[in-house]
Amino acid sequence: MLNPPFPCNQCGQCCRHVHFSNETIYLNRGDGVCRYFDEASNLCTIYAQRPLICRVEDYYRIHYLKQYSWEQFIELNLTVCKTLQKAAD
Ligand code: SF4
Repeated sequence: MLNPPFPCNQCGQCCRHVHFSNETIYLNRGDGVCRYFDEASNLCTIYAQRPLICRVEDYYRIHYLKQYSWEQFIELNLTVCKTLQKAAD
């Protein structure tokens, strides 16, 4: 695990808005929510097998390791998290 770990607060907003990204739109069940998202528990039903795009550390290692520090990548992602969370308020 990278240090510090990604500070995910499990809000579920990324899983509720997969239609916003070309990389996750294929997961859209039709209303923007991922077909693998369980709204009752706010959890991923395929967590152990979730796609690479949903694995923030693995995605960073494969695609952005040379471009950003881990801390920078966290900040970039948190900007999206905060935008989605604010829109949901
Ligand atoms: S596959 Fe799982 S982690 Fe990825 S968007 Fe869907 S519910 Fe969320």
